[in-house]
Amino acid sequence: MDYEKMVDRLYAVLPAETKRHERFEMPQAESFIQGNKTVVRNFASVLKIIKRERKHLFKFLAKETATSAAIDDSNRLVLNGKFSREQVNKLVSDYFSQFVLCPECKKPDTKVVEKQGVRMLKCEACGAISSVKGL
Ligand SMILES: [Zn+2]
Repeated sequence: MDYEKMVDRLYAVLPAETKRHERFEMPQAESFIQGNKTVVRNFASVLKIIKRERKHLFKFLAKETATSAAIDDSNRLVLNGKFSREQVNKLVSDYFSQFVLCPECKKPDTKVVEKQGVRMLKCEACGAISSVKGL
């Protein structure tokens, strides 16, 4: 099933209460291929929207693309390998669902807190504190 259809289906089964929040704009990575590398030119603004540590998203993308990555002088993310903008955005969206959206209420108003040395996701909207693997 393609991703768009899956999202449509998800929305179809969600109650109206949750639908109101779909106006939150998913950050869109603007990437392009240069030689054998993929440059995400707005990496800094994606981070600003999702409010997560640069290091964490950086590691996630490097791991998921199974390549090495670097941050260049202009704060752009450079992946060693050719990836389409679609692929990059799919990963950003995976990251978002895994590490930003509250598992309880699905809102993006979360922050990372530490409880007894374990990183947890705290939701500012519903107050839930969730343990998230790899956070
Ligand atoms: Zn919540």
